[in-house]
Amino acid sequence: MASIEMKHIVKRYGDGFPAINDVSIDIADGEFIILVGPSGSGKSTLLRMIVGLEDITSGDMFIGGKRVNELAPRDRNLAMVFQNYALYPHLTVFENIAFPLRLAKNKMPEEKVRELVTRAAKTLELTEHLDRKPGNLSGGQRQRVAMGRAIVREADAFLFDEPLSNLDAKLRGQMRTEIAQMQRRLGITSVYVTHDQTEAMTLGDRVAVLKHGVLQQVASPRELYEQP
Ligand code: ADP
Ligand code: ADP
Repeated sequence: MASIEMKHIVKRYGDGFPAINDVSIDIADGEFIILVGPSGSGKSTLLRMIVGLEDITSGDMFIGGKRVNELAPRDRNLAMVFQNYALYPHLTVFENIAFPLRLAKNKMPEEKVRELVTRAAKTLELTEHLDRKPGNLSGGQRQRVAMGRAIVREADAFLFDEPLSNLDAKLRGQMRTEIAQMQRRLGITSVYVTHDQTEAMTLGDRVAVLKHGVLQQVASPRELYEQP
């Protein structure tokens, strides 16, 4: 786990108005922060700069106190959780979670892999599903497998880009509850982009509001949504 600090971050895609305009924010170690704002306000751009998929025009980005502006995505140790969890359909839950460990440069002994996957599965209540394939799981279970993968890697932070936006209302509600429970249990630093006010209210320690690339407000969900 790690803090994420942004100091005067600017992103220009060309000559026009900056997509991100002087954004500064400190996200504490273990904090769950929600990023909201209209389409085109710069949410994805900001997320991509944290992950390292987009160059920073000016300003400084720190992860765990270390400046990462020039670090490649693979050297940042962050886990991106997408809408479609990019699980391998032909692999079991166990093998899906173990996948990043088997990719690792310094090959991990099988015993160690088993230990890490077993522990993550226990935390995520997936123990009895380890031999199943993703196609036989519920949406919530699939999401947990994706998170299991990030946990075994010991990612410093999770980044979510509208992970629930393609789901129907019922499943969205279930997954929201799952993510909230998991966050309470794991306390992993998370940046979560959403359009959904209920998600912002129920998941976030704080909500950051972007508009035209400018940070308008950073406040607790209560301060933001329950004003008299
Ligand atoms: P879009 O046009 O992409 O649908 P919206 O303008 O509807 O974007 O905003 C998306 C979400 O962002 C809203 O549901 C709301 O929760 C949140 N949001 C946007 N601006 C603010 C604001 N100033 N204060 C609080 N929440 C905001
Ligand atoms: P959001 O995620 O809030 O919808 P984006 O970060 O996708 O906002 O976009 C912010 C602004 O940057 C928009 O004006 C968008 O058109 C522009 N933009 C995003 N990606 C690119 C790109 N690859 N090239 C040029 N402009 C871009």
